[in-house]
Amino acid sequence: MSITAIKGMNDILPGDVETWQFLEQTARDVFGCYGFAEIRTPVPEKTELFCRSIGETTDIVEKEMYTFHDKSENSLTLRPEGTAPVMRSFIQNRLYNLDPVSKLFYMGPMFRYERPQKGRYRQFHQLGVEVLGVEDAKIDAQVLAMLHQYFVRIGIEAVALQINSLGCPECRPAYRESLITYLETRLDSLCPECQRRYVTNPLRVLDCKVSGCQDATVDAPAVIDHLCPACDDHFGQVKKYLQSLDVPFSVNARMVRGLDYYVRTTFELVTDQLGSQNAVAAGGRYDGLVESLGGPALPGIGFAIGLERLVLMKGDEKVAPVSPQLFIAAIGNEASDRAFVLMSQLQTAGIRAEMDYLGKSLKAQMRRANKLNAAFTLILGEDELKSGQAQLKNMADSSQSTVDLNALTEELKKKLG
Ligand code: ATP
Ligand code: MG
Repeated sequence: MSITAIKGMNDILPGDVETWQFLEQTARDVFGCYGFAEIRTPVPEKTELFCRSIGETTDIVEKEMYTFHDKSENSLTLRPEGTAPVMRSFIQNRLYNLDPVSKLFYMGPMFRYERPQKGRYRQFHQLGVEVLGVEDAKIDAQVLAMLHQYFVRIGIEAVALQINSLGCPECRPAYRESLITYLETRLDSLCPECQRRYVTNPLRVLDCKVSGCQDATVDAPAVIDHLCPACDDHFGQVKKYLQSLDVPFSVNARMVRGLDYYVRTTFELVTDQLGSQNAVAAGGRYDGLVESLGGPALPGIGFAIGLERLVLMKGDEKVAPVSPQLFIAAIGNEASDRAFVLMSQLQTAGIRAEMDYLGKSLKAQMRRANKLNAAFTLILGEDELKSGQAQLKNMADSSQSTVDLNALTEELKKKLG
């Protein structure tokens, strides 16, 4: 029996990878304009990092982590998200000494042991950003404007930005208490999971996907009605700045995020095109996180985009794969050897060149040149070897011109422009 990939972990094949490259390159372009630099951290981290930052009672830490012991009995975890590793690296490398404001972005695979389904996998990819050092609501608005701009640039319009504020350690405890009191009056209508967690993590009940829990909590108290003056003011500023930048949004007072570190501004970019996997990006502020991990008391904000969900939304809109600029069809061994050297010269000069390696007939070679969508073809036979000249055919308009084989690279460069 042949070996298959691990359930919920997918190959990204040629034909699809071009879409990925487009999404990644556009991120580099857009995020670069906003002053973000890329950071790359290892895929595994010490398990403790995620327990301490994401929170012990969250779905991720309770049931979704790929945790294992290495040969030295260290508990390691394949990163389930990107923020904690970036914070760890930020602190460890003292990036805060370089500039009072750090703007970082990352992209790469994340791992969560979830039930695989459309838009939900066990290895998936996130594209994320983090800004450290700014409390001003301008940065919240800028990060959201950048997220908006990214979606404009990748051509995905069917998304809506929802924002909320989760308050801070000043105001959230009182809200939490009032929510617990409210939930106690409705315990019978909640799912077993929510009945279990309503005291340890009452906010999670509000975004439980079970419809019974949704219905039972329609009139639950909202965090934004319980904000302290400072948080209320901050949220007001975020909205004002978003309006000043023409970033469309709506307030979703029920939105809570599944990670413990969020405070104040939180947000999701949602779509109605992916069934229940409706969030394509999510994020928020995490002002106490750096300090809680042993770093300086710096505020932070960030988001992560789920790349698989973007690829699904792009659907059949494929990005064309790169095609050869020249296909050399050779007849006979001697011509094939010459084609081999010519091809190598072209490749060294930065021209995408291809030939036949399988001893196929001229007809089959031309069929392949067509299939590969080569821009030009060159036929090399005995006559061409003798004269040192060959016909260069432009496949788009079938026009032909005679080229000197010794000047092939220069000639082709001219024609390719
Ligand atoms: P969901 O509610 O769909 O489980 P989440 O709140 O767990 O999402 P985050 O931790 O905020 O997601 O991650 C940010 C983004 O990463 C999500 O909006 C989604 O696009 C993507 N994402 C999260 N988990 C997965 C997964 N298992 N497979 C594919 N994409 C995912
Ligand atoms: Mg999840």
